[in-house]
Amino acid sequence: MPSSPKSLYVHIPFCDHLCAYCDFCKVLYRPLWAEDYLTALDRELFFYSSHRFDTIYLGGGTPSCLPLPQLCHVLTSCSLLLSSHPEFTLEANPESFDLEKAKACAKHGVNRISFGVQSSQDKFLDLLGRKHTFDEAKKAVEIARSAGIDNINVDLMYALPGETVEDLEKDIDAFLSLNVPHISTYSLILEEGTAFHNQEIKEASEDLQADMYERILFRLRNAGYRRYEVSNFAKPGLESRHNQTYWKDQEYVGIGLGASGYENGIRYTKQKNLTAYLKNPTLRKEEEKVSLKEDRSYYLLCNLRLEEGFSLGEFENRFSIDFFSCYPSARKKISEGLLKKDGGRIACTDKGMLLMDAVLVDLSMDEESVSC
Ligand code: SF4
Repeated sequence: MPSSPKSLYVHIPFCDHLCAYCDFCKVLYRPLWAEDYLTALDRELFFYSSHRFDTIYLGGGTPSCLPLPQLCHVLTSCSLLLSSHPEFTLEANPESFDLEKAKACAKHGVNRISFGVQSSQDKFLDLLGRKHTFDEAKKAVEIARSAGIDNINVDLMYALPGETVEDLEKDIDAFLSLNVPHISTYSLILEEGTAFHNQEIKEASEDLQADMYERILFRLRNAGYRRYEVSNFAKPGLESRHNQTYWKDQEYVGIGLGASGYENGIRYTKQKNLTAYLKNPTLRKEEEKVSLKEDRSYYLLCNLRLEEGFSLGEFENRFSIDFFSCYPSARKKISEGLLKKDGGRIACTDKGMLLMDAVLVDLSMDEESVSC
């Protein structure tokens, strides 16, 4: 029976500028491209016109860089597909978010904004190629609130070139002063093809990254945020419903340039070339029906990122096998204090979260040696 995903991701690939570290699927904004793009999105959305989604996420790119009429166009198209109690998120950059756009968002049902703030210090914002100051970020948060949107996330990047733990402490202080309910954290990864990679900038050492991560964990927990996913912190009850769809490895619809989705057991990616996409927006560039084994590995990869981990019962229902029969080395990980079993659930401990890659590698060895 075809599945009916409850989450929709819509990709808006346009940006006002290109940041030095970014490897997302994006292009510089051009009015006519955006006009054609919104028409193409409508063609895609038409296929889901009878669906109602519990979560819709307008990501990018920079959705907020669309001028008001174009932003209203896509908000209207998406709002028709919302269920009765939805979470509707818009990604925004502080410099392209104003009161008019905030009001339009609220009017069309957007009830969550995720701001790409990244740092509170101009020297790092400049280095990253960001075009806002931290004062503008503060103002953007206030604008969202004044339009009635309180459910706000801010992205915090760390392990930036030349950044010290003291610099990070300053950022944490400044981010906490925003008093928003959700903070997403990212260490800088130097992806091939980015300006940073081409400049041969080096990533921070693993030790420094781990120290910084532990500082973030300590400070945000002390400030009343719960780490519900390895990199995501929220005040209780304000976790991102949409992103949990991914981490719980549930199906979702992805539309737009380069978007990926997971429907009816098939994982797919849309094409990344804008001209080709505009010609045939519904075409999937890659489709993969994953094997049971791959599906299981992916399930672990996603669910172990969550503080609550996953239910042993759910694992058995989904894969028709007992977790420990499939992954006998999990018992060793429990005795080593990397995994914990609690109330019928398996999750990483704090130590396991830090060493998650090693945990996953060891569990994947079971896949090779145990027939399940
Ligand atoms: S980081 Fe955001 S604003 Fe910067 S280029 Fe990437 S998508 Fe655009």
